[in-house]
Amino acid sequence: MALRICSAYCTISTDAVLVIAGLIPLHLAAEEKLELYVKAEINDEVKNYQRRGTYQKWQEEWDTSDKRRWTRKLIHNVEDWTSRKHGDVDYYITQFLSGHGVFMDFLHRIKKIPNGNCMYCDEIYDAEHTLFCCPRWERGRSALLSDVGMLTSDTLIMKMTKTSVGAFMKEDLDR
Ligand SMILES: [Zn+2]
Repeated sequence: MALRICSAYCTISTDAVLVIAGLIPLHLAAEEKLELYVKAEINDEVKNYQRRGTYQKWQEEWDTSDKRRWTRKLIHNVEDWTSRKHGDVDYYITQFLSGHGVFMDFLHRIKKIPNGNCMYCDEIYDAEHTLFCCPRWERGRSALLSDVGMLTSDTLIMKMTKTSVGAFMKEDLDR
């Protein structure tokens, strides 16, 4: 279900795709339901309290996950990301957030191509290189830079939760 929500490649790890899609892991959702089930009275206050506890557990699991370091580098706070009011994820955004997509380094790792280096500058061609370093995408990057002020993973994620940056990434990832 999470793969469908954010149009992710099926090679993505479960913990990363759940965070990107904003789906509470099933074992934590079940725990929350159980804890609510045994309460004498359930009201919004109790539900909110339980949900905060679920987010805390999810955050702890996310912080200690040994997978998907790239996604964790981008998305630090699970609750802030999943409860945002703006910034739907799609095929392109998910490629950037997961690192699984039309990136030579990724395609090389899954043995689709013989070389993972950038065809424009010969550096390792991954999501980070595309967004932050490669001279090929300087024009799009400049436009983004004028919008976010300073181009870092933190400022980009903050911007994504407030407005759309899809146009820049679509231009890059379509090629
Ligand atoms: Zn490059």
